[in-house]
Amino acid sequence: MKKETSVFDFNHNYEPADILAKIKAKNQGKPKFNFLDGPVTANAPLCLHHGWGRTLKDAYNRYNSLIGKEVDYVWGFDAQGMWVEVEVEKLLGLNNKKEITQYGVDKFTEKCIERVNFFKNRQTEQSKLFEQLGDWEHSYITNSDQNITSIWHFLKVCNDKKMLKQSYKTMPWCPRCGTSLSEHEMSGSYKERTHKAVFVKAKLVGREERILVWTTTPWTLAANMAIAVNPEFTYCKCQVKSDKNLLIVNEKQVKVLRDDLVKIVEKVKGSELVGLEYEPFLPLQKQQFEHKIVPWDQVDEVDGSGAVHIAPGCGAEDFALGTKLNMQPFIIPVGENGAFYEDFEWLAGLSTVDCEPLVFQHLADNHTLYYHHDYTHNYPFCWRCKTDVIFRLVAGYDIATDGIRKDLLKAADTVNWTPDFMGKSMRQWLTDMGDWNISRRRFYGLPLPFYPCEKCGHLNVIDSREELRARALNPSKVDKIPHLHRPYIDEIQITCEKCHEPVSRITDVGDCWLDAGIAPFSTKPKGQFKADMVLEMKEQIRLWFYSQLFMSVVLTGEAPYKNVVGHSTIVDEDGKKFSKTGPRKIYIEDVAKQYGADVLRYAFASANPTLDMRFGDSIAEDAKRRLLALWNAYVFYTTYAMVDQPDVKNYQPENLAPIDTWLVQLTNQYILATREAYDQFKIHQVVKLTDDFIEDISNFYIRVNRRRYWKNGEDQDKMNAYWCLFQALRSIVIVLTPLVPSYAQYLWENCFGEGEAPVMLANYPVPLKIKTKTNLLEPVNFVKQVISLGLSLRAENQIAIKQPLSKLYIKTNQIDTIKMFSAIIQEQLNVKQIEIVTDDEKFNVAYLTVNFKKAGAILKNRVQALKNALQNTEHMTEYVAAFEKGEKINIDGFDALTPDLFERKLAPRSGFVITVTDDVTVVLDTTITDDLMLEGIARELIRSIQLERMNQKMDITDRIVVELKTGDAKMYAAACAHQPHIMREVLATEMQIVEGKGENEIHIRLA
Ligand SMILES: [Zn+2]
Ligand SMILES: [Zn+2]
Repeated sequence: MKKETSVFDFNHNYEPADILAKIKAKNQGKPKFNFLDGPVTANAPLCLHHGWGRTLKDAYNRYNSLIGKEVDYVWGFDAQGMWVEVEVEKLLGLNNKKEITQYGVDKFTEKCIERVNFFKNRQTEQSKLFEQLGDWEHSYITNSDQNITSIWHFLKVCNDKKMLKQSYKTMPWCPRCGTSLSEHEMSGSYKERTHKAVFVKAKLVGREERILVWTTTPWTLAANMAIAVNPEFTYCKCQVKSDKNLLIVNEKQVKVLRDDLVKIVEKVKGSELVGLEYEPFLPLQKQQFEHKIVPWDQVDEVDGSGAVHIAPGCGAEDFALGTKLNMQPFIIPVGENGAFYEDFEWLAGLSTVDCEPLVFQHLADNHTLYYHHDYTHNYPFCWRCKTDVIFRLVAGYDIATDGIRKDLLKAADTVNWTPDFMGKSMRQWLTDMGDWNISRRRFYGLPLPFYPCEKCGHLNVIDSREELRARALNPSKVDKIPHLHRPYIDEIQITCEKCHEPVSRITDVGDCWLDAGIAPFSTKPKGQFKADMVLEMKEQIRLWFYSQLFMSVVLTGEAPYKNVVGHSTIVDEDGKKFSKTGPRKIYIEDVAKQYGADVLRYAFASANPTLDMRFGDSIAEDAKRRLLALWNAYVFYTTYAMVDQPDVKNYQPENLAPIDTWLVQLTNQYILATREAYDQFKIHQVVKLTDDFIEDISNFYIRVNRRRYWKNGEDQDKMNAYWCLFQALRSIVIVLTPLVPSYAQYLWENCFGEGEAPVMLANYPVPLKIKTKTNLLEPVNFVKQVISLGLSLRAENQIAIKQPLSKLYIKTNQIDTIKMFSAIIQEQLNVKQIEIVTDDEKFNVAYLTVNFKKAGAILKNRVQALKNALQNTEHMTEYVAAFEKGEKINIDGFDALTPDLFERKLAPRSGFVITVTDDVTVVLDTTITDDLMLEGIARELIRSIQLERMNQKMDITDRIVVELKTGDAKMYAAACAHQPHIMREVLATEMQIVEGKGENEIHIRLA
């Protein structure tokens, strides 16, 4: 043991640098803990919110090493997809896909790779600072050819299972990113937005009537193909001030005419409007066809005019209706960048937002604009760049989900979800999810291995790099490309397997969730895809947990994981969200430096993962305070052990005192309970168990056993006390190692370790064997309760703990327990004697109060007078005696009252204080005799001298000389009366007591 009393440096990492190699050597070939890390996006430094998951993951890995399992400590980096492109575009000042093409796709791709490599390294360094143990040389990265071809294989299997389909559908589309968003990317990405909505009048052909139509997306009028009405609804033909023609509007929505309405002229059923022809809204070549009013039962009477403008190229429902009514070919007005196509004349090149004034102008010129207004609604935005999404008809590739839904649900049921509501969320998601849209029209991502043949229509899907080479028109080209990304891969043509014509790859890349979802197959040895545990934020249910599950069920029919653990979000102390994209970029190393990595880790480990975690100074300070409670216990132990050098490691305890037996049993309980909590992936419970155990050690075991360490010599009792405390603290240090590796290593090195081996090479503690079988956990809880009741009595009655009292009375049926621990109770409550009593009446006096319910009925308004009479009487003893005999009671002014008008109650007799619970009655005799008073003063004096010893930084074994000068007669008397005792307690070889004047003066010096 090294001497250590300074404060611990939380900013220093005490773990040896080669620790991972040592752990691997120790556990090689043992049963595996197969952990799979969800790859972190290598696109920005790790921030505070990453810390929680990384602490938990690292801790479970380390725990499994401690219980003797082989753990690979491999971490993942997500390294391709739209999110990298967006950042690189910003960096290069590129605004859209056209500018990327001009810049050069090859250069752009290399910039993306450069960026992810940079952040992979940056995040690795940050993780090391955060004491995350990693085999960093073997990290996996999702842009590797290995990862890409593993996904190719998956897609090939999908194609073989006829799950792959090409389809037109309406997709949420980000005009800035130029790509669609999949269903799972859309959840949660809504915010309140205000747009221009417009009421437009459609001129009915050959009639003096107009039908009113409403839209919140004016740009889609360019793609209008029909107007839909509900055949069941009633529509009104209205005379208005602003137009000589009648306006047709749904009867529930006449209010939209505002004060323009003159009167309703006629009412018609929607069915009567169906089939009428109207003139197109906008004068465009594309609009030169017959426009008709069509029936649609989905039209509602809530918003707008009850007549809906239909643009199948711009909305999912419109697309469905258009398909049903055979309106093809649909008008698709805007391209990938959200700008109108060239053949849209005066709209060409304008964005869906910029075109609005022109559209309104054309409507006005054509006398079809009624009015436009601001409209606020929840509207989806792109989660990457925050641009409002539009809806576009897109040709793309989907993986059909209906056929596999049952298998996914079945596989999800085999998984242990923690917390278990995540299982329900996954079930819900799997029940509701639509097809998985996997194609993205972008540059730097998974190149989809799809080669549709234009000649014969066959879709060729490539399974591997080998197959690509084998089927390439020019195989040497395959050998020359630096990696499988665009644009290099696009240059490779293959031969169609059906008609043998040359075929090119589609230029689409894949959804980035394919990249992370394949990790169980691309990063683990064959057959070891099933992780014992994955752990991420619970939002990953519909993201990574989902994509993994999906891909695994397609490939193997089984779930890719046995246990899925989720955690919530970190919010700041005010409950607001920390964000990595917002202004509050809090880099993890900055926070780790501020508080110390272990403090931060302990704060994360303490949080209940089912709830959002608040984070701020007070949370970190609290974690530190709890860690330092262990430090204080350690300092207590080492302070005495430095002197005695007890050989606890080779000690066999005999004749343990009951309080020692209790501590050993508590230690054993702690070892088993923490192991169970770790095994159930409930680290916050490990923390709670630890904090409670340290509290029991510091505030009970050490407090009640202090003297056993002070006393001179080395007897069995003292060795037992050392051994028990050592074993308890040693267990805590090992149990805490996964959470606070540096702190634990320091304590281990200094005190609890065996030789040079670091604590990560220790075995998880196992219960200690002792002879006593009687369980003392409950009895000691009872003793603690009695002590706490006694201390409360003292506090309530303002009797200082240093003041000895003569007697403590206890009434209880747990007499054996009180006897077994009487010395401890006596010392803790500072009483001379404990007496067990069977009756607590003698400490009380009985008195009567009025039973208001009964007395009120008889005495009516005189009941208050009776109450006063009872309160002021000097004859209470007589009344009580009469009450107890059941006799009538005569009170001044009230004769012969029956006992049932009263209630008998008890109050402590003078000189006693009493507290009563279900289990026990505790009574203190509060009479302070002169002797007791002097003894109390002597105790205060001892405390003052001890404080002075500490102020002078004296060693606990230093002998001293004491001089006391006092003008206080009681202090003088107390010091004289208890001099030998005082000297023993403070290790004085000499003590002078001088009567003086004024304040007490205490001087001490080394003897
Ligand atoms: Zn976007
Ligand atoms: Zn072909």
